[in-house]
This record gives sequence, structure tokens and C-alpha cells, in this order.
Amino acid sequence: MINNKDILQDSFGRQHTYLRISLTELCNLRCTYCMPAEGIQLSPRDHIMSYDEVYEIAKTFVDHGVTKIRLTGGEPLVRRDADVILKKLATLPVELSITSNAVIIDRFVDTLQACNIKNINVSLDSLDAQKFKEITRRSDFEKVYNNIMLLIDEGFKVKLNAVLINGFNDNEIIDFIELTKALPISVRFIEFMPFDGNKWDKAKMVSYAQVMEHVNARFHEDKIVRMQDAPNDTSKNYKIEGYMGSFAIISSVTNPFCDSCNRIRLTANGRLKNCLFSSSESDLLTPLREGKSIEPMIQKAIQAKFKIRGGMDTMEKLEQPDLHSNNRSMIAIGG
Ligand code: SAM
Ligand code: SF4
Repeated sequence: MINNKDILQDSFGRQHTYLRISLTELCNLRCTYCMPAEGIQLSPRDHIMSYDEVYEIAKTFVDHGVTKIRLTGGEPLVRRDADVILKKLATLPVELSITSNAVIIDRFVDTLQACNIKNINVSLDSLDAQKFKEITRRSDFEKVYNNIMLLIDEGFKVKLNAVLINGFNDNEIIDFIELTKALPISVRFIEFMPFDGNKWDKAKMVSYAQVMEHVNARFHEDKIVRMQDAPNDTSKNYKIEGYMGSFAIISSVTNPFCDSCNRIRLTANGRLKNCLFSSSESDLLTPLREGKSIEPMIQKAIQAKFKIRGGMDTMEKLEQPDLHSNNRSMIAIGG
């Protein structure tokens, strides 16, 4: 093993301590902004990391300074051995968390508690069952909503992620914020981002500034409290005075937070992505299966990280479809 922790430090001095692991490319929803209507070309089954391989790779990162692991997907909980993986990863000295669409999360409450998971991010883009169906192409609104309430009752810290799309759910911004009046949750509005096959168009995106226009039109400025963001936080956090919960905006498009980025991503087929927007990937699974050390591959991938958004450092570049169509669809990255 290479002993120094520096393999996770990039050429701009950013230390990568947060690993997001995608457990599967499969999902029980079909969100339009995440996956193309025709689906994606799935990796062959034997190219997907086994639970032992997930653990081995995760442990290598932890040995080099990763302190936080988030499981994602596709939908991480549709993987048959999700509970085995959760329990194995819970033995590592890291803060473990998960991002889920919550459709079947009620079946996992005991496992999540046994694994000492405290933070759960749930995606919910509309509070209207019909619109939920339109965006997810599935009729699971009630299940998801009830499961969110269950998670809150069980004491998990819940963040709700809503991807905003112009003319579709931007009229629900205030309804989402009103949810935080009596619920101890954080609602996070995410700027719609471009990925392969999601028909991104800047005009569909609702920007940080536009969200704040809605907020300022509804609440008096004295009531809108700008909160302290945590170090490496990707969101700008606010709350309405007197409300139990808070809200935030994740503005990767109009206001990238790359300077303080500490994140790296492992896809379900064992590729390391040094940035969400990067179209290049490093295969860790093949060397692992060949019994080779994966540390040199990790170091090389980290060193190759661009300063801003995988090299798409201007809005003009972000708007070029050929640049993001080299990237995967979000469902195969993991968010
Ligand atoms: N299935 C889980 C879920 O939906 O929470 C985990 C995986 S999902 C890919 C992770 C996050 O990525 C979700 O919060 C989703 O809303 C977000 N996401 C997917 N496509 C996106 C896009 N084009 N722009 C912004 N966020 C996106
Ligand atoms: Fe599935 Fe999550 Fe993508 Fe929706 S956002 S299709 S729930 S992976």
C-alpha cells in the first residue's frame, strides 16, 4: 500500500475525503431529467462490483483519508444485497449515508438504524401526485411521501432534493418551503444539470437567482435567514425565521462550488469519476480483479481532475451538447 494520504489530493490542493458509491444502474423510477425514455445501455451483470469488491475499494479510499461515504445509484435499495453492503460498509470508520427515492425505504429502516446511518437524502420533485407521475413515469407519490414521514418519525435527518424545471415545478418552490414550517427537514432545490440523454436546455433550468426571486416575493427580507454553510457544502442554506426546517439551493450550473470540492465518485461498474461533469473515467475494478494495487490508478485519476466542472468552466461550454453527451446519464453516475 502507498502510505501517504496524498493520493487523494489533486493538483489544486483539494483533498478528497468524500466518496459517493453507486450500487446499481437500475432504478424503480424513471425520472425524465435523469434517464432517457428509452433507458440506458446497462453494464453486463458481471461488470458490476460485487459487495466484496465495493467493500475492498471503499476500504482503500478510507485507508487514504476518506471520512464520508454516500451510497447512491440508480436506486441503491433495489440492489438485492443492499443490506449486506450497508452492513459491511458500516464496519469502516466513516460517516455512512444514502440517497434514495424512498419508494421501498420502509423495508430498510432497521438496517439503516443498525448501520448508524443518520442522514438520508430523498428525491422528491413535486408535492402533486400527478406531477410526480409525470416526472418519474411511475405512480409512487403516496409511498414516497409516507416513507419520508416515516423517516422523520424514526429520527433520521432528512434532506429532500427537488430538481427544479421551469414551467413544471417552479410554482411549488413556496409549497416546498412551507413544508419546513412544521417539519425538521432541509429542502434542497437543485439546478437542472446537463447529462447524456436528458435533453438539457438552459431555459428549462431554474437558477439560484430565480429561486430567491420566488422567496423574496413571498417572505419579508427580515424573515429570510442566510445560514452558515458547512465546509465543503455544495448548497447555499437559508431558513425562514420561526420555521423548524431550512431550505437550500444547489447551484452547480450558475454558481459552481468546485473550489472546495472534496468529492469523488465510484460507478456501479467500478469506474472512478473525479468529477460529476467529467467524461473521463478510471477503471478500478479490472486491476482489482487482476489482484493489482488500485492506488496508482486512483492517484492518476485525482491528479487529472480539472479545476472547474470537468473542464466545462464556462456556461458556453456547458451549453455544448457534444461535451455532456460524452458523459454518462445521471442514472449511471449516481448524483
Ligand atoms: N435514486 C436515488 C434518488 O433519486 O435519490 C439516487 C440516485 S439520483 C441519480 C441522485 C440525485 O441526482 C437525485 O437527487 C436526483 O434528483 C439528482 N439528479 C438526477 N439527474 C439530475 C440532473 N439532470 N440535474 C440535477 N440533479 C439530478
Ligand atoms: Fe431513479 Fe434517482 Fe434517477 Fe429518479 S433520479 S430515475 S429515482 S436514479
